[in-house]
Amino acid sequence: HCESLFKPISINGLALRSRVIMGSMHVGIEGLENGIEKLTEFYKLRAKHDVGLIVTGGAAVNAEGSGGHDFMTIYEEEDVQRWKPLTQGVHDEGGAIALQLFHAGRYAYKASTQLDPVAPSPLQSPINPDQPREMTEEDIKRTIEDFAQGARRAKDAGFDAVEIMGSEGYLINQFLSPVTNKRTDNWGGSFENRLQFALKITEAVRRTVGPDYPVLFRMSGLDLIEGSTTEMETLHFAKRVEKAGADLLNIGIGWHESRVPTISMKVPRMKFVPVAEKIAQEVDIPVVASNRINDPQDANDILEKGTVQLVSMARPFLADPAIVTKGREGRFDEVNTCIACNQACLDHVFEGKAATCLVNPEAGRETELLMIPAKTKKNILIIGAGPAGLETARVSAERGHSVTIVDEKDEIGGQLNYSKRIPGKQEFYETLRYYRIQLKLLGVTVKLGTHLTGEDPLINQADEIILSTGIVPRVPEIDGVNDPNIISYRQVFEGTAKTGDNVVIIGGGGIACDLALFLKEKGVSSITLLQRSKSFAKGIGKTTRWATIMEMKQNGVQMIGGIDHYHCIDAHSVTYTLDGEKKMIKADTVVLAAGQLTNNDLVEKLTQLGKPVHIIGGAKDALGLDAKKAIYDGAVLARAL
Ligand code: SF4
Repeated sequence: HCESLFKPISINGLALRSRVIMGSMHVGIEGLENGIEKLTEFYKLRAKHDVGLIVTGGAAVNAEGSGGHDFMTIYEEEDVQRWKPLTQGVHDEGGAIALQLFHAGRYAYKASTQLDPVAPSPLQSPINPDQPREMTEEDIKRTIEDFAQGARRAKDAGFDAVEIMGSEGYLINQFLSPVTNKRTDNWGGSFENRLQFALKITEAVRRTVGPDYPVLFRMSGLDLIEGSTTEMETLHFAKRVEKAGADLLNIGIGWHESRVPTISMKVPRMKFVPVAEKIAQEVDIPVVASNRINDPQDANDILEKGTVQLVSMARPFLADPAIVTKGREGRFDEVNTCIACNQACLDHVFEGKAATCLVNPEAGRETELLMIPAKTKKNILIIGAGPAGLETARVSAERGHSVTIVDEKDEIGGQLNYSKRIPGKQEFYETLRYYRIQLKLLGVTVKLGTHLTGEDPLINQADEIILSTGIVPRVPEIDGVNDPNIISYRQVFEGTAKTGDNVVIIGGGGIACDLALFLKEKGVSSITLLQRSKSFAKGIGKTTRWATIMEMKQNGVQMIGGIDHYHCIDAHSVTYTLDGEKKMIKADTVVLAAGQLTNNDLVEKLTQLGKPVHIIGGAKDALGLDAKKAIYDGAVLARAL
């Protein structure tokens, strides 16, 4: 299976176990207590599972270039000793690991480094609060040397290779682009001048590490910034980097400030592979394709064509450390697929928290969420097969318990079944497929279409009961809200109620936005969202919220926020006050998507029966309802049973 993934390849003498690179991700684990030990376990688990080469998160080559206080560093001699256990750990598993040499340039935060960010020109990035200082000639020379010394330290620390970070809008990319480089000296102006910084770094790194040490270069294949480097220039640049001494080109897409989604769920799988393919035609060294490759069969198809030599996956290794091994063994339906939601990886990093994964809470918690066989085998009954219940079932069964999971509905998944129907969110099908297969493999008894009321042999036989019944939609207190012709978002998603062509939705959170996009795709022409709060899509993480709002606007969805008061509502109109003015909006259909309440009616009954009941997920906390929390709750609870 996936033979192309395992076709032998060496990068300057470094033989790789597979043609899959685990792309660089800042995970923030190193900043935690016992961070290095945790990071080592994190990488070891991936190394064990056939990854060809792991690339670390960006390790700052000097203090002002750091991405943040919890980022890796490689600018002090202590760093050599510090990273030795990490490289040793990966080698013990038979893996290989490259250190990424990183300088954030104008993306560095002063609040984090306590230093002014530096850049080719003093131009502030739209996503950063600090204006950078223009680098002097001396700064430039010192920084080139910092990259070289970083490479030396990486080699001394036992890393198998280094990767020079030249994409994503970081310092090297800033020098290359006419948008960020307005210098008038030898480092700016013409394209020839602008590419010198990258070339000088590559040459200096090569000189320092010697001819036989693998040096990778991550370059931007497509900036997605208006007025930036052209395609012709990019292709030329690739050849020059090759000539300067790079052994491999890893192709990045987009800058952090690009307003074009590059890695979100809405980006079709493998969309950017052609960018890498084009570059590969220009050079003789191996080229790596990346972005939205999350399936071992897709990766294999890309390599089978022979147009690029390797593929890079990053987040898919958070979702499933064994993704490549499962590909090799043909266990495709067992892959826990990264759904590109960014909710527990990138969003966490932006919030200054360590990265983990929505569909795999064990990621980044390798030393905490262990899978220890249960001492006493118990009968576990899980009521509710949403994400919280599913993860509880999986982990409990894996620990050796006898597990039954029931749900009123005819399919597992709870609210995830709504998510999967939203345009661009079809990846949720993969999560449901993963759980379905896991439950089957682990011998969990699944009873669908089953409503438990309290008196039931299943309940009597259970040693532990887990209530993961999720939520019920909240009905807001508005005059007339009980009109039977006013429908709930659930009825729309489940297809039990039809809407007209002019829909008003009460609510503006994540579910309301999903619903609007779902209806748009179904051809509804006029959609208006009403809510009290001024900001829409609240609760959606920073990395995807802007794209959701943009998509709503592009689709002509009206968003009216800041409503002071709702006077009355019926199936065809809503009357409200906005900015002190009374208004009425007409509709063919009014839909409620105004939050949710816990669904835990059964608690009292079960308690009366004297059964230990654990309440998790939305059934415990409807306000904080999200799949990430639900799955995490299940992962933790199941380890305590
Ligand atoms: Fe992928 Fe979402 Fe997990 Fe991040 S949190 S690795 S995007 S599934």
